[in-house]
Amino acid sequence: MSALLTVDSLVKRFGSGNRTHTAVDKVSFELFPGEVLGIVGESGSGKSTTVRCLMGLERPESGDLRYDGINLRRMTFAQQRRFRSEVQMVFQDPYSSLNPRMTIGRIVAEPLRVNTKLSAAARRDRVVEMLELVGLEARHLARYPRSFSGGQRQRIAIARALVSGPRVLVCDEPVSALDVSVQAQVLNLLKDMQEKLSLSVLFIAHDLAVVRYLCDRLVIMQNGVAVEQGTRDEVYDHPAHPYTQALLEAVPRADPAGERMRRQQRRALIEARTA
Ligand code: ADP
Ligand code: MG
Repeated sequence: MSALLTVDSLVKRFGSGNRTHTAVDKVSFELFPGEVLGIVGESGSGKSTTVRCLMGLERPESGDLRYDGINLRRMTFAQQRRFRSEVQMVFQDPYSSLNPRMTIGRIVAEPLRVNTKLSAAARRDRVVEMLELVGLEARHLARYPRSFSGGQRQRIAIARALVSGPRVLVCDEPVSALDVSVQAQVLNLLKDMQEKLSLSVLFIAHDLAVVRYLCDRLVIMQNGVAVEQGTRDEVYDHPAHPYTQALLEAVPRADPAGERMRRQQRRALIEARTA
């Protein structure tokens, strides 16, 4: 099976002269159709920069980025259009990622206006369908982001990401800004959407507990370097790199309250899934 997304020796530096900082240092990985690939590392390890390069939001120093075998830098206009509609993103902070001056209806319809020729009526039908799919309702269409909670806003962001029928979803810490009780609901929603729509997902997190439940394979990043890659079971049961071992081990010892929280979170996830 050939990869849907390929990141090959990606390098991204910030700063200039002798004050440069290598945020991403020769990172390589592939995302295959239908899989959930987790990218895990502490804050500052280069996770967001990697996906921002992939989405064209940062310009890398070097490396190859490919979608469906096509180099992102050599895409025709039509291929770029297809990429923008088929690869969608959910950001960390649902407070800053939704335009406060746009109604929910307009926010969710935006990718359809940009990427399709659907009529206004067809767009509205599709938006209502998406809102219902993520657990919201048609009556929410005319409201503004301010009247929604963090969890609901992330549902809106997910509806926007899914409305144009993408093949790939890139989620950059989509639950890190949410209350623990709400995190489980949003993760369950993402998991359900992934299964229902056969999506391929790049899921970024700093929390190994969350990723274990969602991901088929993992990439572990430390200081801009992908230090380990493997299937979920390989990484959790036989971590090869000391940093991965530290990520797995240090959590409960250094942060017992956090671990208790994560245990509750896991239980909530399991209960919500089996309810
Ligand atoms: P993560 O998402 O893993 O927390 P980031 O990709 O956001 O990490 O950041 C990686 C490194 O690059 C950090 O040291 C960060 O300070 C730096 N960095 C990120 N964006 C910029 C920027 N626009 N300008 C300068 N440095 C940046
Ligand atoms: Mg980040």
